[in-house]
Amino acid sequence: MPTIALAGNPNCGKTTLFNALTGSNQFTGNWPGVTVEKKEGRLIRAPEITLLDLPGVYSLSPFSPEEHITREALLHGRRPDAILNLVDGSNLERNLCLTLQLLELGLPVLVAVNFLDVLRKRGDALDLAALSAALGCPVVAVSALRGERVAALAAALPGLPRQAPAMPARCFSRETEAVLRGVEAQLPPNIHLRRFYAVKLLEGDPLVLQALAGRGDISIRLEDGDARIAGERYDHIERIRARCLRRGGRKLPGAWIDSVLLNRWLALPIFALLMFLVYYISVSTLGKWLSDFVGEGIFGGGVSAFGVTLPGLPALFAALLERWRVSAWMQSMVLEGLLGGMGTLLGFVPQMTLLYLCLAFLEGCGYLSRIAFVLDRLFRRFGLSGRAFLPMLLATGCGVPGILAARTIENERERRISIITCTFLPCSAKLPLVALLAGALFRGAWWVAPSAYLCGMGAILFSAFLLRRLKIFPQGGAPFVMELPPYQMPLARNLWRSVRERTASFLKKAGTVILLSALLVWFLANVKWEGGFRAAAGLSEGLLADLGRRVAPFFAPLGFGNWEAAVATFTGWIAKENIVTALGVLYGGESSLAAAFSPAAGYAFLVFNLLCSPCVAAMSAIRREMASRRWTLFALAWQTGFAYLAALLVWQIGSRL
Ligand code: GDP
Ligand code: MG
Repeated sequence: MPTIALAGNPNCGKTTLFNALTGSNQFTGNWPGVTVEKKEGRLIRAPEITLLDLPGVYSLSPFSPEEHITREALLHGRRPDAILNLVDGSNLERNLCLTLQLLELGLPVLVAVNFLDVLRKRGDALDLAALSAALGCPVVAVSALRGERVAALAAALPGLPRQAPAMPARCFSRETEAVLRGVEAQLPPNIHLRRFYAVKLLEGDPLVLQALAGRGDISIRLEDGDARIAGERYDHIERIRARCLRRGGRKLPGAWIDSVLLNRWLALPIFALLMFLVYYISVSTLGKWLSDFVGEGIFGGGVSAFGVTLPGLPALFAALLERWRVSAWMQSMVLEGLLGGMGTLLGFVPQMTLLYLCLAFLEGCGYLSRIAFVLDRLFRRFGLSGRAFLPMLLATGCGVPGILAARTIENERERRISIITCTFLPCSAKLPLVALLAGALFRGAWWVAPSAYLCGMGAILFSAFLLRRLKIFPQGGAPFVMELPPYQMPLARNLWRSVRERTASFLKKAGTVILLSALLVWFLANVKWEGGFRAAAGLSEGLLADLGRRVAPFFAPLGFGNWEAAVATFTGWIAKENIVTALGVLYGGESSLAAAFSPAAGYAFLVFNLLCSPCVAAMSAIRREMASRRWTLFALAWQTGFAYLAALLVWQIGSRL
């Protein structure tokens, strides 16, 4: 079955195009590095063809891990049958640098110039026929985001693998060309991509040098091969550009917005204000009303409007189970285990959906990517850079992609610090806990949700500050460069897709792992062990209470030495949503929760659970990215130790106020 690889620079719209061509829902973003692993999908128009979304790269000389993935996918193993090279038309010169290298790989290449809509707005004129002639391969223009001409591209793809391999562009001077031929002739006979290897040898590419080590000396008669190759490529690209692209020079609307939003003094306050607004709307006000409607209405005492009262699900189920004469323990399982635990969690879905929507809006209009820029200034004081923002932002959704995204950070110290700290930010699974405690213990105060994010951010910066001082990390820094996408109105279709995708995956998880955990918690709480499982007289007699009491003293100095809190914390390591379902099963309702925790103890409990080591899924992501057991243990110990001290501080100070 033919495979087509989708290759291009970071941020040129590959994932957007991939989603349009395959109908899948990968996360797109305005940053380099959103796609750090290759993803596969089938073309809608030709399901027999697999499309491979590769991480974006600027060249085929790998520096960071994700560049390595792309190069490996194109060169070794099961190579693709053709390459679809997506090019950001608004940055044609820089993008063509990769194109010239892709043409050397001996595969059929189709170049698609993206951002047609931006080119048009700027008044740029691109001569596709001339570009195609200059590159020696077919060229089309599309707007992946607007879906413009994507159908024509989709129609051209099925035939692509059968086309002749692209010819390497004639971009080098006569002298360099002669040297290249000489090197090609000396390469071992089993090497097929002779032009590619010859060029890489001239560039002094370490991986190619390594691969050819010990296989005969190859003499290269050229000084400064690296600089020459690069220089001649750029000259060639400049010639192509002059022939094919006439700039209209019109300014994009919205350039003035940046002078405000990115202003040295205003940028951070504006960001803080916007984030506050997002959480105010989605967690405190509108989201809270909707969630109360679901949590306390549908999954609680019922809904009444216009003088009509509908009973809630618990009452309905209780009546049904009664009518069916279901045994008492079964009733308890459905009402307490299922509706008690799951209902508490599902009640928070509206809040999360609204939050996703707000963030997708800020992302889609181009604001969020600028924040990396704004935060760069702040982060530098703590030994991080703007690059650390992407892992953090993704971690507010889920820690796993956050940890993976740290791959885009070239600096090894910063990468490790990001992996260790990005899960300090509340992920969407911890959000229900934040909202639950805010509602039950703080009467829904507006500051609780933002404070959870501030607390996470503070923990990240303080950890970075401390960790940098440890001499265990490799030292050194790298400059942070990023180009800013144009502002635009987000498309409703994309917002909907992003929100639907995230909500659906939350619900899927709730219906599987979390449902099972809730039932397990209910079961263990309601039985005791006396030579066999026996029904416990009450929750405090149950097996879980027993286990909880054993670990509870460990948490006593933090203000929540009750066994229920200990159990909830432990279930959180399976999945953080479990904390809320466990509290739902063990306490039954907000009022008994409020009776068990003082505000200070509740906040200490929140802080500990926000900061302590993440769920097993994220732990295994840490293990994979650190590629070392020692580093993984260090990360988990740091997180949990940090959480313990922070919660201790909160309780010791809070309880004395
Ligand atoms: P990738 O890094 O190459 O996978 O790029 P993405 O697919 O994540 O897209 C990067 C950003 O460019 C996203 O914010 C997209 O919405 C935006 N984008 C992609 N294609 C177009 C396009 O044709 N026009 C415009 N205006 N924006 C686009
Ligand atoms: Mg991508």
